[in-house]
Amino acid sequence: MRSAVVVGAGIGGLSVAGALARSGWQVTVLERADRVRPEPTAVVLWPNGVRALRALGLGAGLDAIATPLPDGGVRHPDGRWLVQPRPLPADRTPVVVHREDLHDALIAGLGDRVELRTGVTVRTVRAEPGERPAVGDGRQTVEADLVVAADGTDSEIRRRLAPEAAVVSSGSAAWRAVIPWYRAPRLPAGQPLGGEVLGAGYRFVSASLGERGSSGGSSRGGIYWVATAAGAPRPEPPETQLALLRRWYAGWPTPIGELLDATDPADLVQQEVRELRPLPRAYGFPVGPGGVVLLGDAAHAMPPHLGQGACLAFEDAATLAALLRESRLPDAVQAYDRVRRPRAAAVVRQTRRMSAVLQTRGRLALRARDAALGTLTPRLLNTAATSAAQWRPPT
Ligand SMILES: Cc1cc2nc3c(=O)[nH]c(=O)nc-3n(C[C@H](O)[C@H](O)[C@H](O)COP(=O)(O)OP(=O)(O)OC[C@H]3O[C@@H](n4cnc5c(N)ncnc54)[C@H](O)[C@@H]3O)c2cc1C
Repeated sequence: MRSAVVVGAGIGGLSVAGALARSGWQVTVLERADRVRPEPTAVVLWPNGVRALRALGLGAGLDAIATPLPDGGVRHPDGRWLVQPRPLPADRTPVVVHREDLHDALIAGLGDRVELRTGVTVRTVRAEPGERPAVGDGRQTVEADLVVAADGTDSEIRRRLAPEAAVVSSGSAAWRAVIPWYRAPRLPAGQPLGGEVLGAGYRFVSASLGERGSSGGSSRGGIYWVATAAGAPRPEPPETQLALLRRWYAGWPTPIGELLDATDPADLVQQEVRELRPLPRAYGFPVGPGGVVLLGDAAHAMPPHLGQGACLAFEDAATLAALLRESRLPDAVQAYDRVRRPRAAAVVRQTRRMSAVLQTRGRLALRARDAALGTLTPRLLNTAATSAAQWRPPT
């Protein structure tokens, strides 16, 4: 029986571990944290992410927790439309999922054939010619035919195999929260709770997860919002951060003020936005009879402006699982590298263009900024949506 060790029990690691186990692999997952616990936020999955989850055999689990996200368009902070809302065909409609629901579905997908060891911080990787790949935490070494590095942006394995890829700040910070349904603000009829507003250096996106337990909606329900602002994360306590957000977004269209007012500081998740620059030179490293691959944020951490990080992690997992079913192990590792690196590089390029638009600041750039928001943004969003809609898992 072929064996794999997956480092990291985030959404990338969990999805690939379940897929390999279902194909008959013996899988061990090593996770640094004492418990496998996602952030109490949500994630938008574009059609490529949804297709990848279906290819991984997780479609039924997803259908039970996903809420379709109708196109709410994009507005300027003064209320003008930058991108008008339009009805989307089903195969281009993204969904929004509570991360805790998603984790539950991914854990359920592990079945009982995956060994999950928590409290293990991988510090070493063996990738010598002629030897089986292995990872270790300084006390134990775990050997396998395949090592999957799904250990996130600060991946220790990537640091050793592709040291050229540096983690850098993207120059912005993000705040997220899910407001439970019972605390959601009541808005005038016809006023949607979801949508996107884009200003220079600032962005606010909200989406409804539906009522708790409502049919077809996330079992956790509520309203998800994410705010991005140029600059560093704030050192103040969450109450002060919320007050700051209210000040930054004062005067922005409804429902932003109402959502910030309804947010409990304890539910606020703040994060520095970071990315890999440059990307690793390779995502697959054939080693002895097997190899090591990079997957998810370990391979292509990027700013969240196009909501593609998790979607690409699922694409990675679906692609790897399909290639491993079709080919010999070292060939599959090389094919994974050939297929995934250009795909991730293309999405990262689109994301960086969006970062440039978002971060245009300063008086001199005012006119260029407004032109970019009004013309470049719709083009970029359209290209990104088209590329998300077009991706198909390998057959
Ligand atoms: C504000 C924000 C909003 C976002 N919104 C979206 C969105 O709407 N749609 C979307 O597709 N993406 C979105 N993303 C991106 C998405 O969250 C990530 O791309 C995704 O979570 C990456 O998953 P991962 O499993 O690769 O890494 P992670 O989730 O970081 O998991 C890595 C795991 O490895 C473990 N680990 C780390 N080091 C070690 C070690 N040495 N040994 C053992 N275990 C280790 C960690 O504890 C963790 O459990 C967003 C990101 C941000 C910051």
